[in-house]
Amino acid sequence: MELTTIGYWGAYPEANEATSCYLVQEDDTNILLDCGSGALAKLQNQIKLEELDAVFISHTHTDHMADIYSLEYAMLIKTQLGIRTKPLDVYIYSEDIDALSFEYPEIMRIHQIDLSASITIGPLQITFADNLHEIPCCAMKIVNEKKSALVYTADTGYTDKIVEFAMDADLLLVECSFYQAQQGVVKGHMNTTDVGNIITRSKPAEVIITHFPHFGQISKLADEIYTICNKKVQMACEGLSITI
Ligand SMILES: [Zn+2]
Ligand SMILES: [Zn+2]
Repeated sequence: MELTTIGYWGAYPEANEATSCYLVQEDDTNILLDCGSGALAKLQNQIKLEELDAVFISHTHTDHMADIYSLEYAMLIKTQLGIRTKPLDVYIYSEDIDALSFEYPEIMRIHQIDLSASITIGPLQITFADNLHEIPCCAMKIVNEKKSALVYTADTGYTDKIVEFAMDADLLLVECSFYQAQQGVVKGHMNTTDVGNIITRSKPAEVIITHFPHFGQISKLADEIYTICNKKVQMACEGLSITI
């Protein structure tokens, strides 16, 4: 299974970059985790849009789903051109899924994510856990047939639940929205101390941090995490690919 970072900023994209979006590939299966602002342009550096099998949206904050509406038009046009021959399944965790109002439901097949159910896309099985965030938001675990596990926290505050969900992951893709000095400033996000504590308790084999703040020197995030858990983490960047 290969994870490629498409966009990694929180809130809004820096110049020529994108907010939360990650491509997961196994054999011929391509799934997207979140589809933030700027993601669609960047995604096409990796795959053709018609090759997408499913999209999973952790929550309805726009830094995680702004480009889903552009993706709808892309699917519409590619369907009209005969390049795409099936609808795209889009799984969203939302308290009001009917309010999302896609124009072409026959092109974009929307499903509410049910936290108690797993979803199988080709060789990948996806399960979910409830996060601590301003609005309903879920973490995702993607497991392949060899039982390699990728856990994506999406947006969350530090909870025992996310620690348990991330336990022994082969790769943990974890949000890191604040520096150590901003402990507890914003509920529903984690700082470097929280991330270091998750790593200490969950013991993931590899870690990528993402969802960065727009202030300070972001390379310090990894340094601060190292002081907490003594583990080197990778900083998400466009095109960063890791195979597990
Ligand atoms: Zn976010
Ligand atoms: Zn959010």
